[in-house]
Amino acid sequence: MDLSFLGSGGGRFTTISQKRMTGGFRIDDLAGLNFHFDPGPGALVRSYQFGLNPSSLDGIFISHAHTDHYTDGEILIEAMTRGMTKETGLIIGSKSAIDGYEKWGPCISKYHKSLSSNIILDSNSKRSFEGFSIKGTKTIHGDPSGIGFQIDDGNLKISYTSDTKYFDDLSEYHKNADILIASVLRPAGRRIRGHMGSEDFLKLVEEIQPKLAIMTHFGFKIIQANPQKEADFIQEETGIDTIAAFDGMRINLDNINLDGSYELIHLNDRFKHNNGFKHSNNRNIDNKQKKLDSY
Ligand SMILES: [Zn+2]
Repeated sequence: MDLSFLGSGGGRFTTISQKRMTGGFRIDDLAGLNFHFDPGPGALVRSYQFGLNPSSLDGIFISHAHTDHYTDGEILIEAMTRGMTKETGLIIGSKSAIDGYEKWGPCISKYHKSLSSNIILDSNSKRSFEGFSIKGTKTIHGDPSGIGFQIDDGNLKISYTSDTKYFDDLSEYHKNADILIASVLRPAGRRIRGHMGSEDFLKLVEEIQPKLAIMTHFGFKIIQANPQKEADFIQEETGIDTIAAFDGMRINLDNINLDGSYELIHLNDRFKHNNGFKHSNNRNIDNKQKKLDSY
């Protein structure tokens, strides 16, 4: 089983600037199936960039109705259904993502929902399939119907907190996770509303005692502080293997339950020869706005 990060960025400003990529992550070969979690902006392109085929997907998971978690959802559904010609696949997500909730979502149109099984999860629901089960986990974040996930193939439990602040029973929802993936937006000492910072993640890792803890979804300030340094500190304090995700990171998890070992792979960047784009910083928004004001 492989866990591949098509981005390690999150939050508005990292996403707008693409300081880190925001394509979410994929689990390949879980009970023989391939799943994409939280396909933010770039998920389609990053899949190809790192050599993953979106047409091989069997399911798409969307935790909540914020752009850094859903924008490429519909195009990945098109890939999964061979351009909306084949009835197949699962779309699993929060109420907001699938049906819309209050001012949030829906993130997927009726058209894109029409050929796949649609499953809405809340923090008290669990669904079982052949070879795996999936349960919703509680979050406290802007979107009130937002969730995280714990997926279990009978051998390995992989938990993903999605975006949430730390709260007392957060660890209850992710209990017994072998692999704990968390959105850690801020470095130690720089907390922000609705999100975890490094010290929150440290507490959570201590409570859950996973075999491997992975931090991702980095905002500007933790990128500046160097996420790997924060991860090293957490590892030192807890004694638990802790990794800061990077763009194009793959972890092979086949042996983690046998001898605790995992293989860390840098996926080949197939766009490497492209020089990318340059930002221009001299744009004057006020002047531009004047041009857009109507008289
Ligand atoms: Zn987010």
